[in-house]
Amino acid sequence: MTKIVALPAFQDNYIWAIHSLDGSHLIVVDPGTAEPVFAYLHKHKLDLTAVLITHHHWDHSGGINKQKEHYPNAAIIGPQKDNVQGLTQLVQENDTVTFDEYGLTLRVFDIPGHTLGHIAYYNDEMLFCGDTLFSCGCGRIFEGTSSQMYHSLDKLKSLPPNTLMYCGHEYTLANIAFAQTVEPNNHDLTQRKENALKLREQGLPTLPVTLATELQTNPFLRCDKPEVIQAVQKQTSLKAADPVSIFANLREWKNRT
Ligand SMILES: [Zn+2]
Repeated sequence: MTKIVALPAFQDNYIWAIHSLDGSHLIVVDPGTAEPVFAYLHKHKLDLTAVLITHHHWDHSGGINKQKEHYPNAAIIGPQKDNVQGLTQLVQENDTVTFDEYGLTLRVFDIPGHTLGHIAYYNDEMLFCGDTLFSCGCGRIFEGTSSQMYHSLDKLKSLPPNTLMYCGHEYTLANIAFAQTVEPNNHDLTQRKENALKLREQGLPTLPVTLATELQTNPFLRCDKPEVIQAVQKQTSLKAADPVSIFANLREWKNRT
């Protein structure tokens, strides 16, 4: 089992740190700043193999230049269609990146919406989804359309239910509060809140979380469920019931809260 650790950064970002099988090297995902990565590398006497970037926002890519200075041999991998400075390898839908010393191959999804070139890295066990999918929520649609974002989330839903989702931010409790206004009778959501509260009280991340839990609790993945359709129609006076319209109006509802 791959060892993956959350390195907290800024207010609520997570830089995900993946250990090589022999414990000597590290891959990091979305380092918005280099300092927490350097501190972790030094403390555990590790070398940096690669940096994986999901999208161009500064809080996910701001650490690239310093990391290149200090670890010039590390590969800096990121989306072909997003404007990320300093990449050494560009990837897009269906590309794979393989790290033998980690026993790890990750495939790339193009998942536009939050940004136009946003990508995710995944295999059957793990998904690094940046700011597209959060636990019990989803990212804001800054560059794409609601339809693009809906279809991007739909791709992520196709992964095996046991897939562990490594999201870019610790937003779970705030997202649950909104999800409960949409689905007040969702008992899985009540359970998710209890679990998340316990973890936060101990200062621990609420992530990763399985896709199965998200399918039961994340309203943005439940736009075809009668409870969510009715709640959105009631809140927004929407007549349509198709998932894309429900998703678009649910996202706007969340933006207003
Ligand atoms: Zn972002």
